[in-house]
Amino acid sequence: MSDRYGDFVQSSLGKKVAKNLGLPLPVNLDRFESGQRLVRGSVLVGSATGDDKRISESVARIFSDLHAEVFVNSSDSIKDALADADIEAKANTGGDDKFKVLLFDASNISNADELKQVYEFFHTVARRVERSGRVIIIGRPPEAIDDIENALAQRALEGFVKSVGKEFKRGITAQLIYVAEGAEQNLDSTLRFFTSARSAYVSGQVVRVGKGKTFDVDWTQPLGGKTMLVTGASRGIGEAIARLLAREGAHVICLDVPQQQADLQKVASEISGSALMLDITNEDAGEEIADAAEKRGGLDAVIHNAGVTRDKTLANMDEKKWDMVININLASIAKLNHYMLANDVLKDDARIVCVSSISGIAGNPGQTNYATSKAGVIGLVDATAKQLENNAKGMTINAVAPGFIETQMTEAIPFAIREAGRRMNSMSQGGLPVDVAETIAWFASPASGGLNGNTIRVCGQSLLGA
Ligand code: NAD
Repeated sequence: MSDRYGDFVQSSLGKKVAKNLGLPLPVNLDRFESGQRLVRGSVLVGSATGDDKRISESVARIFSDLHAEVFVNSSDSIKDALADADIEAKANTGGDDKFKVLLFDASNISNADELKQVYEFFHTVARRVERSGRVIIIGRPPEAIDDIENALAQRALEGFVKSVGKEFKRGITAQLIYVAEGAEQNLDSTLRFFTSARSAYVSGQVVRVGKGKTFDVDWTQPLGGKTMLVTGASRGIGEAIARLLAREGAHVICLDVPQQQADLQKVASEISGSALMLDITNEDAGEEIADAAEKRGGLDAVIHNAGVTRDKTLANMDEKKWDMVININLASIAKLNHYMLANDVLKDDARIVCVSSISGIAGNPGQTNYATSKAGVIGLVDATAKQLENNAKGMTINAVAPGFIETQMTEAIPFAIREAGRRMNSMSQGGLPVDVAETIAWFASPASGGLNGNTIRVCGQSLLGA
């Protein structure tokens, strides 16, 4: 979809005009392409002082695996962990070096005074982050901490990260990763996602990494040998998800309504997947999916992407519009999950990923039906995650909540509202379907067993509901 203003401000005249008028200045965001290095620039790592080195050690091992160019401040205690991981870290001399990634292990911060260490680490380098840079803080989940001073300090990190995300601009993202005690070894997939261009349009997010079972993967084809079903795969975000999962090695069963047959078959054949023409609200949808899955030995993941909008103010909304949206976007997902879990359509260690929306978090005029359905999806994920945690099959469920993504769905929005939606975020632009797809591929990875019950917004840190 075209973003004429976004294109205009890439020219030198456009930049001048926008600057003088104080208009938003979107930059071209780095996006991942196969074969590229994950971290495209230098990394400055640091840690708060303290005895617990487990997160620093895990971070050092991952950057060693990534062959990243690592810098460190001279007195920082993370130096030992870097040396143990055979990283010859360069000294951050406070000169002109620019950084693509700033990462701070804040897990040892245990009271309000110690938060000063976060200020000290980031303050001196705040002007030295490259375009499309990454700011990452790692902490411990406050809800698992009994000590009040410690819990408030860890919770405080959220305000810092979200403010940095709004302040730094130039496509720079900021995230907070809470790692549960004992889950330090589960950081790989999450750190790889957030340090790379894969997370181009994800910012201001809080992710929780837990102790779930993870698997070693070939990072060039992390979904190799897996079978994954994507609903609503004939176009838009669903098509991008199907293409990306296939790029990462999966066989994708592409599902869409029979009216979309031609487009669906085109997508499926281009990615060497299979096509399943089916309305997910059909009474026997579960059985049909089970049949298709059985031919491939079961499903390793299901991506509930299909969704519709039927916008009207509540006073003008007829019953049909309400029923249709709730039925497709929410009730059918709950029903299909129930069927698939009860009938072993999903294999052990399977991943369920749902597509919600920031509309379900913030609410939107004219979208009582849609926002209800998408908030319900988050409720479904929260409740199912608790069940999966206890059922020993290693399955996980997570959701993405896209903001303004450039698709046919958003192209249909009236111009003024569309332009507001596009600009009201830290990136000053809409996201692309691939941004949602990358986030889903991260959740769908066998290496992401530590992620369960997360809802991550893919919204460029939209102001709506933030
Ligand atoms: P889209 O309309 O382009 O694609 C949706 C697909 O779902 C279509 O191919 C459609 O045929 C299919 N579908 C609809 N009802 C179905 C049914 N009953 N059975 C099977 N397939 C069905 O929409 P999109 O923009 O690609 O959105 C994809 C998902 O992302 C939706 O869940 C949407 O709510 C969500 N989302 C989109 C945006 C955005 O900005 N585009 C923002 C937030 C959330």
